[in-house]
Amino acid sequence: MRASKAVFIMLMLTLAGVGALVAQGGGPPAGQGGRGQGGGRGGGRAGWVQIKAGEECPPGMTEARHLECAPTAAPAPSIVDYRPRSTVVAPEHLVPKAKFPVVDVHTHGTSSYVSLPDRIKEMDALNLRVLVDLSGGNAARVKERVDAINASPYKDRFRVFANVAWDGAGGPGWQEKAVDDLRQAVKNGAIGLKVFKELGLRNKKADGTRLAVDDPALDPIWALCGELNIPVIIHTAEPQEFFSPVDNHNERWLELNLFPNRQSPPSLYPPFEQLMKERDHVFSKHPKTRFIGAHFDWYGNDLQRAARQLDTQPNVYLEVAAVLYEFGRQPYAAAQFFTKYQDRVLFGKDTYEPTEYPYYWRVFETHDEYFDYYRGYHAFWKLYGLGLSDEVLKKLYYKNALKVEPGLPQSGWPK
Ligand SMILES: [Zn+2]
Repeated sequence: MRASKAVFIMLMLTLAGVGALVAQGGGPPAGQGGRGQGGGRGGGRAGWVQIKAGEECPPGMTEARHLECAPTAAPAPSIVDYRPRSTVVAPEHLVPKAKFPVVDVHTHGTSSYVSLPDRIKEMDALNLRVLVDLSGGNAARVKERVDAINASPYKDRFRVFANVAWDGAGGPGWQEKAVDDLRQAVKNGAIGLKVFKELGLRNKKADGTRLAVDDPALDPIWALCGELNIPVIIHTAEPQEFFSPVDNHNERWLELNLFPNRQSPPSLYPPFEQLMKERDHVFSKHPKTRFIGAHFDWYGNDLQRAARQLDTQPNVYLEVAAVLYEFGRQPYAAAQFFTKYQDRVLFGKDTYEPTEYPYYWRVFETHDEYFDYYRGYHAFWKLYGLGLSDEVLKKLYYKNALKVEPGLPQSGWPK
């Protein structure tokens, strides 16, 4: 564990440096009039200032010695411009094609690929066997998509989830209509229900107030999914830091300033913890329904919390879409987690982008070290491989999906 501690400390130092860069306004400060001047431990170095335990360095300075802040000789580059070249020379094992066939349980709009043979070739090259299109829509739209899949030469390569129109819940007739439409969507070939993040953030009840994820008006929908033996994949909230102040301590600062509409301040949205509580309440109210937490329930940065959830809620599974950077920055804990909970994890990606899938294969399959993520603004840190065993990989890539989503094509898979 020594190596992981060292890595962690390095990351923290890097982030502290980045924070200082963010805080830095113009050029380096003169360093005059700083706190604790004259304490002596600055060694008389020009411009250094002392701080007390718990204090932060002034803007433009960083803690270069314990409780001693130093300015930079040259003006520091901004967080946007700082792109250090790594000098680490480590073995590289690029993985263009997954070791075993894969079900991607989290895609959008992909059922239209049935008419695009080039896409099928791309999928074959990546070893993507089945894409699950979560944007199926209502019963009528599901029928169009499923009919197109079944009429194509690729009917075992795509599946569709249905969606419920949540707005207006609690109003007259809403419940009957929603339940009937979902029932019909499943008759039309939907193999599950996808819940978008709008539920909890933006969907409104009939009376115009926010519709909570665990509003009792929705209970018949969750119960119906259990009765019909279809899973619910649910995306609730956003990464935790989207709800935090966007200051120089926020590890998603750059993303939240490149895409400011991702900021989710308390003036607009409920707090992160409330949304987690509402979602987890639905899981425990409906033990006979299988739930897949999209994006690892946003617990990828806290694997102990993810473990507690799986330990206490046996009807819950977690899916890895768009949180690869969390596993790749804590490879020891993540490898242990995926091994211990190998029956509860599913592969998903969210955005179909052929150049990005190989990053997932590399993190899950290799022991490579210190390599880049495909989105630098998500992760200021490097990734490390988990080196999962073949059996764990098979469960993550397809075996668990076949169990949790019985409507997937069940034959033709390796043992
Ligand atoms: Zn999605």
